[in-house]
Amino acid sequence: MRCYYHPEKEAVGICKCCGKGLCPDCAADIGKGLACRGQCEEDVRAVVALIDRNIQLAPKTGQILESSRKIRSGAATFNLVIGAVFVAWGFSNLDHLGFVVILGTCFLIYGIYGLMQARKAAKDKPPA
Ligand SMILES: [Zn+2]
Ligand SMILES: [Zn+2]
Repeated sequence: MRCYYHPEKEAVGICKCCGKGLCPDCAADIGKGLACRGQCEEDVRAVVALIDRNIQLAPKTGQILESSRKIRSGAATFNLVIGAVFVAWGFSNLDHLGFVVILGTCFLIYGIYGLMQARKAAKDKPPA
């Protein structure tokens, strides 16, 4: 293969942006690929930077999912505890039995629902 800009010279690589053959004089080494010197350098740099940023972002997204799952199941457990306290209090204080037990039951249901959601989210969790 010959250099696109110097047909008399042998190419040492291909521009990552436009795919043209490049001789040592025309090839700019961007680190992870070659680019036409002065023509495609900026484009290839931008693409390489974008790929690098995506690679760095990927594990972070996984961590965010993991922590939001923990917060969700933590809140659900909190609701369960509150619900249990209300129900226990309702039965020990018979004057407020009806209202407090209903309130406590609501918390319990909400807590169980939250735990189920958190478990479902854990199952659906995409591979990090
Ligand atoms: Zn190029
Ligand atoms: Zn050349």
